[in-house]
Amino acid sequence: MCDENFHVNAKGNPEMPGTSPGQDATTKDQLSPEKITPQIIGNGEMGGNLSPGEISPETTNNGPMGDNLFPEEIILEITNICNLRCRFCHFHGESATIRRPTGHMAPHIWKGLLDEIARWNRPCTLLTHGAGEPLLYPHLKSLLERAVDIPHITVGFMTNGMLMTPDISRMLVDLQVHSVAFSIDGVIPETHDHFRKNASLDRIESHVRFLIDEKARRNSMLPGLTFNMVAYPGIMDQEEAYVRRWIPHARSVMISKFRPVGSRMLWDPSDSPGSVIPRFAPCPLLYRQSVISIEGDVGLCCEDINLDVPAGNILEKEFLLIYNRSPVLCAYRRAHGQRDISSLDLCRDCHVWGGHVVFHRNEREMDGMTVGCHASPSGRVYGKI
Ligand code: SF4
Repeated sequence: MCDENFHVNAKGNPEMPGTSPGQDATTKDQLSPEKITPQIIGNGEMGGNLSPGEISPETTNNGPMGDNLFPEEIILEITNICNLRCRFCHFHGESATIRRPTGHMAPHIWKGLLDEIARWNRPCTLLTHGAGEPLLYPHLKSLLERAVDIPHITVGFMTNGMLMTPDISRMLVDLQVHSVAFSIDGVIPETHDHFRKNASLDRIESHVRFLIDEKARRNSMLPGLTFNMVAYPGIMDQEEAYVRRWIPHARSVMISKFRPVGSRMLWDPSDSPGSVIPRFAPCPLLYRQSVISIEGDVGLCCEDINLDVPAGNILEKEFLLIYNRSPVLCAYRRAHGQRDISSLDLCRDCHVWGGHVVFHRNEREMDGMTVGCHASPSGRVYGKI
């Protein structure tokens, strides 16, 4: 559901989440910086209002069955059609199998949802991406116009940047959309365009530059920009140049763990020396995130890319009722609360519950800026300090 399973916080702030109190990292070996490699760290989620370990059945006031949960992040899949064919995309990639319909979301689905969210009076981040490229969606502007009008919603999306024309950049600044996350893999066109099939790094970078310049021309802080590079084998020597290229313009730059198609693992399950094994804690995504497909189906989390755990459809029932009362979501939360996920098809092979545990931080001077970096099982996140 997420592009390379990368999530972005649309709220702003340099996304540098703290170590989750309930999720200590345990290591087989004392970690030193040089032991932190792309193999043992990787993609992570960029924060939210609460650090992931702060949300759990123990700290919500409603317990694992839910009753009064409001997701702080909704991933709304307005389209699952994509203009690229990234080789390792978990949905459109060479070895991926699409097992659900493809197309665009009918506008009445998101209109109903936004009407419901507008009544909540609770902060909520709406991310209008999913298994497709949001800039292909013909009703994107109308959706963003409606969303930015709701005071407690922050809205953003992730894009591959290929279709980010000057008109779209101007529209994003006009509307003061909160965030845009670019998925760009490295700084060398040959390798980028190899992994991101049908893409042109040169064209994408010129689009990003236009948006950066447009923000500067209009003296606008928004949209806040984030950049994500997947740590593909063979391109990690580009990390330093990638961070230097984008950090001056970014809220954060992320180097996310490469996971083969279908893999939800973030560390070496064989427990080899040097691997970082977080202590289990209930998955925060069950309590803070929701995903809604192009057809209005509510899924488990952003890892549920094929809607294997359908919880209900928002055309048939109020979203919040599904989120709080769906038997399948309650069963998943209950199992996580009991710390036994062995019977959960999607979770038992997933490490995302521990993806945010920060096991290393540092900071250094970079081109006149102080740049902090934290590493977790799911990635390295760089931000200006
Ligand atoms: S542990 Fe389960 S709920 Fe959490 S991200 Fe993985 S599949 Fe989703």
